[in-house]
Parts: sequence; structure tokens; C-alpha cells
Amino acid sequence: MYAMRRRDKIQVLGQSAQYDLCCSNQCLGRQATGAHRVRGEVGRWIYPAAMPDGETILLLKVLMSNECRNNCHYCVNRCSNAFRRESFAPDELADLFLELNRRDLARGLFLSSAVVRDANTTMDRMLAAVEALRLRQGFRGFIHLKVLPGASYDRVERAAELADRISINLEAPNAERLSAISPDKDFDSDLAERIQWIGRLVARKDTKAKGHTTQFVVGAAGETDLEILRTTDALYKRVNLSRAYFSAFQPIAGSPLADQTPTPLMREHRLYQCDFLFRRYGFRLEEIAFDDCGRLPLGADPKWIWAERHPEYFPIEINTADRTRLLRVPGIGPRSARRIVKMRREIRFGSLTDLKAMGVVVRRAAPYLTINGKRAGSSMGDRQLHLWELA
Ligand code: SF4
Repeated sequence: MYAMRRRDKIQVLGQSAQYDLCCSNQCLGRQATGAHRVRGEVGRWIYPAAMPDGETILLLKVLMSNECRNNCHYCVNRCSNAFRRESFAPDELADLFLELNRRDLARGLFLSSAVVRDANTTMDRMLAAVEALRLRQGFRGFIHLKVLPGASYDRVERAAELADRISINLEAPNAERLSAISPDKDFDSDLAERIQWIGRLVARKDTKAKGHTTQFVVGAAGETDLEILRTTDALYKRVNLSRAYFSAFQPIAGSPLADQTPTPLMREHRLYQCDFLFRRYGFRLEEIAFDDCGRLPLGADPKWIWAERHPEYFPIEINTADRTRLLRVPGIGPRSARRIVKMRREIRFGSLTDLKAMGVVVRRAAPYLTINGKRAGSSMGDRQLHLWELA
């Protein structure tokens, strides 16, 4: 009976947690199709997640409770939504996770929650569950703990002492946009101040958390891509954010935003591409192309647009260009750039086939390269640039 009740709860609370993408196993090639939202085979509450070191593990992603006092218009857990509410007791959640862990079904935990009565009371319950795992049961694996909007400093600090990663979702890029979709949350005091605390706490040597993330709901508040990326860029620079996640808004029937158009997954994909350009390729916000309304062009890759707009930068010689220059070539990513630089100590590249073996997408890269002084391919830019401008 107890086991059945617990299985029931995890179905409800695992389902409610599915909208949080933190740590999701993002794969740029699949994002535009929505395939990255696919969960593991065990159920919608266990899914493969990429760890900071690149390893992929199975993560139990669950809410402490889906009972919320707030009424965020985009959220299934909002208080005005009539549906089944459930909550875990701290020990109940800890026991459930340990059982899954012992059976090798989940190696890490992602714990979030709706705001039950107030942020601190709810965080106390989440912290009690994590303390039970860490201090009583000796669990040393990966834990990602969500910080609730408005939680006090001592709760946020305790979260940073216990979890490997902590995060707070901004959901919108600024106060004006947030107030349109989350009337109960104050952007500056409930969220921005907490993300600054988190940034300082993860930088401390005596805390366990070594990274922090945030998430934006894309398209719910009428915000532009420029607004989202401006905030993202500032977070990387000012609070040492580890990474941002973007979740294309999909209207929920019966919600205040039910009639709003769903956000195309391609928009989410373009935001992820720009985010990668900031974090892994050394691009600056000023180098990203937006249209007059602050939107990213959906029809073309932002790195390719930059390359087409900077003919003075190309072609570059594959046998001599440094890593920074290689990273500007469409079709060459951080891994292939690293391999090329390493391999050049032993050989000289003589053909596109050699580059393919390094992981280069040669069809895309060839127009921007010379190999031993000879052009590797002709420009395909004009036609595509034209298509992008029409998009
Ligand atoms: S506070 Fe969180 S759980 Fe509650 S309605 Fe808003 S987004 Fe949903």
C-alpha cells in the first residue's frame, strides 16, 4: 500500500518537474526537433543528464511538492490550475531516491519544488531531504538543488553547502517581462538578488556547489532574443553563471496564456547556439546578428551569419591558424579545433578528407579555408544569405 502510494506520488511529482531543463542532456543537433525532451525509459521522472565533467548519468528529477501559492501564467503548477496536488515528506523522498539508487536506476537527484506556503518553509523541507541523503545515509553522488524565489540567505547558503549544483530560474530577462507572466514574483528582490548570492557562494572554497544555472521560458512574455541574450551575457560576466537553459513556451489549455502562439523550437535552438558561441567560442553579444526587432534569424546559424558578414576574416589557412581563428570557421567546433591544433604537431593537412577525420563538417567549413594556400571550396554564401534575409 505504502509502495503504491509512493509510486503514485512520483508519477505526479515527476511529471510536474518535467518542465525544468536544468542539466538536461542537450544536444544541439537534436534541439530543433524537440528530441532533447525525451526522457529515460524508466519513466518521465528519470532521464539522462550531462554532468559538468561531460559524463552522462541517470538523474531522478522530481518536485518536493506541486502545490503552489503562486500563479505564474505559463506554469502547470500555478495555484489557479485545478489538478492533483501531492507532496513528499523529506524522509520519504530520501528513501525513494536511495531505493532507485541501490537498484542503479538513478545515480543523481535533481530536486525542485513549487512554493507551498512560503519559500523558506518549502526550502526547509527540500534541505531536510538532502540532509537525510548526505548526512544520515552518506550519499555522495550528484545533487542539483533548486533555490526557490525569495528564499533567505541562510537557506541558499545551506543549499550551496550540500548540493553539487544549485540554480534559480529567472524565467524572464527583466522585471517588466517577468511581471507580465509571474505576478507574484519580484524580479529584483526574489530572483536577481538570489542569483548574485548564488554566484558568490559557488565561488567560495568552503561550499560544495561548484556551478549554478538558470532557465528562461522563451516567448511567454513577448520578450526579444536580444533581451534574453543580453541578460544571459551579463550573468556569465557578473555572477559567473555556469550555463543558461532555454525552454520554448508551449501554451497549456485552460491557462491565462492558452491562446498564445507556441514558441517555435527553432527559436530555442538559435538561443542555445548563441549561448554556445558565448561560452565555448569566445563570441561577444555585439557579434550576434539580430533583426530590427531584436529577433535572431530563424533561417540561419548565427555563427555562419557572422562568417558571411566578415569576409575580411577569411579564408584562413588550416595549417597555421590558431585555435581562436579556427573557432570562427563554420563547421569547426571546440573539439575539432583542439584536434586540429594537436594533430598539426605531427602532420600537415593536405585535403578535406584529413579534416573530416578531425570532426570538421567539411561541407560547411570548406568555403572559409585554404589548405596549403589553395582554396578548399567555393563560397556558398550568397544564396543562403539571401534566404536568411528573406526569413
Ligand atoms: S512559483 Fe514556480 S511552481 Fe509556482 S506557479 Fe510559479 S513557476 Fe510554477
